[in-house]
Amino acid sequence: MDFLTQKVAEVLADQVDVADIEIEQAVEHLVESEDFEDNLARRAREAVAQFAVAELGAPAQLRFLDEFEFFDDYLSPAYQVGGFNARGWCAHWWDHPSARFRIRAMWTAYESLARRAPGTVDEEFLRFIGDHHMRVLLGDDSPMVGCQMSHKPSTPLESAPIPAGTETAETHEEVAS
Ligand SMILES: [Zn+2]
Repeated sequence: MDFLTQKVAEVLADQVDVADIEIEQAVEHLVESEDFEDNLARRAREAVAQFAVAELGAPAQLRFLDEFEFFDDYLSPAYQVGGFNARGWCAHWWDHPSARFRIRAMWTAYESLARRAPGTVDEEFLRFIGDHHMRVLLGDDSPMVGCQMSHKPSTPLESAPIPAGTETAETHEEVAS
């Protein structure tokens, strides 16, 4: 019960400015708000999931099954476009390994953020991660920019064979330093 009480207090603390209004009024207002039960249930689910991972060692619950579900249910609605401002995008993004790599990286970063900061995950994700990568994928620097008329597979960066004897860092420690 202590755990639940603490969580309810956290919910209230997030939404109540104690400097300006009486707590009692604020609680009344909060409880009467339409989405109170949804919010409380969501917070409770998040808190229990965090507790299970941190204290009980349970496997972390993912919000999305994989990068495809993450794209369909999150990225796609979050990054709608209008007119011609998606020159770099291709509907066959999943067939462009570097686009898929970025989207998978965004998905895993999202899941990590969601566990650490469930209350601010969306804002932080969009600001620090999504906006950065989606600007690349939608713009002129996108690996899909050649697909404006029809899908064309992108190609890896060229790399000539590296001659034997080319100096490399001597140890992993050197690379890491
Ligand atoms: Zn394409």
